[in-house]
Amino acid sequence: NLSERLERSFKILKGEGKITEINVAETLKDVRRALLDADVNYKVAKQFTDTVKQKAMGMNVLTAIKPSQLMVKIVHDELTELMGGKAVELNLENRPAIILMSGLQGSGKTTFTGKLAKMLKDRQHKKPLLVACDVYRPAAIEQLKVVAETVGVDVYTEEGNKNVVEIAQNAIRKAKQESYTVVIVDTAGRLAVDEEMMNEISNLKQAINPDETLFVVDSMTGQDAVNTAKEFNDRLDFDGVVLTKLDGDTRGGAALSIRTVVTKPIKFVGTGEKMEAIDVFHPERMADRILGMGDVVSLVERAQQQFDEKQARELEKKIRKNKFDFNDFMAQIQQIKKMGNIKELAGMIPGVGKALKDVDIDDNAFKGIEAIINSMTPKERSNPDIINQSRKIRIAKGSGTKLEEVNRLLKQFDQTKKMMKMVSGMDKGKMAQMAAA
Ligand code: GDP
Ligand code: MG
Repeated sequence: NLSERLERSFKILKGEGKITEINVAETLKDVRRALLDADVNYKVAKQFTDTVKQKAMGMNVLTAIKPSQLMVKIVHDELTELMGGKAVELNLENRPAIILMSGLQGSGKTTFTGKLAKMLKDRQHKKPLLVACDVYRPAAIEQLKVVAETVGVDVYTEEGNKNVVEIAQNAIRKAKQESYTVVIVDTAGRLAVDEEMMNEISNLKQAINPDETLFVVDSMTGQDAVNTAKEFNDRLDFDGVVLTKLDGDTRGGAALSIRTVVTKPIKFVGTGEKMEAIDVFHPERMADRILGMGDVVSLVERAQQQFDEKQARELEKKIRKNKFDFNDFMAQIQQIKKMGNIKELAGMIPGVGKALKDVDIDDNAFKGIEAIINSMTPKERSNPDIINQSRKIRIAKGSGTKLEEVNRLLKQFDQTKKMMKMVSGMDKGKMAQMAAA
């Protein structure tokens, strides 16, 4: 599995604690292989590893985390981001909201129509009406009826009528009259993309102007899934993707490829033949699945938390005794600097990170702060309370900064101290949480 492979490629690195060109190249070879194994499109995999390389290069590593683990985390986060970051919901504001299904024959449209109806009924108290617009095979209408009955919702059919626009419009009229809140239109697919099917579905879309056009695709079809998605999107400009048959050990690389190629959100996944086998698409979980490494991510997160807790415990002692002074403040800054990638990591240091977060943090921001602290006498550093106006002016002069900068730092220090005092009343777990927030 990928995380083991990463572990191996970082063996040489142990103790060094910095991601370098050599081990990045080695690791990314593994990442790319894993993505290709998971059926991710070649170009997408290449593009992806290039991005990860840029992000990882020169990044310093927290002592509590191994470089390989940090690398996995970077890969994981980037995957998540690429797949949209967050789950995207259906737009169901209209009464009724109209959902149009599209996709090849056998992709799972009819099954998904039932699953979605059930989910909306059970979890959102919707009143769905299913519409049978797959009119070419009598068995198709029958199948939708069975599905509707299974999940306990109504279905609209017109036996003998082959005009799908008419059927859909009649169904919508009925839905309005009888206060259905969602209309889900099931359609016919072909085995491959053809002109006739595309014309029919795009005419239908134009005629009923759905709130959501969903493209349903079998995730087991690998690279074909990407091509089909592209062709449907070019014609239909759909709103979201449904990835079906993601049960068993399908790796789900199609999710990444499709998302990258058509830039439309994946909204749901189907994970089995039963009507309950539907999930809202979560990019993060899919990233876990593609990499086969859920454990590593939580391990890294735990390591980060441990780090926070260690910091927190040391500071806690000082705060208890109300002993937090500029020496500690300085030590914290050195800590942050040592870790590099300041903006991202600042938030992990209790108190100081928070205070510095408002400043535009880069190395220059620290230069000023360090200069000011360096211009304080040891007495001033350990007893900041004695710093009066004349001392401030002296410090500003000595550090080559402006009086307002000195004031700002003192204010930040005060805020930090206050916040830490507040925090010290809490238990360690809460403290680490706050630090991580
Ligand atoms: P349609 O032609 O697009 O309407 O596809 P169907 O809904 O009829 O599904 C085609 C086949 O795929 C059926 O045998 C379904 O039971 C099966 N199927 C649909 N979704 C899933 C899924 O998420 N997992 C599995 N394992 N099978 C599915
Ligand atoms: Mg069907």
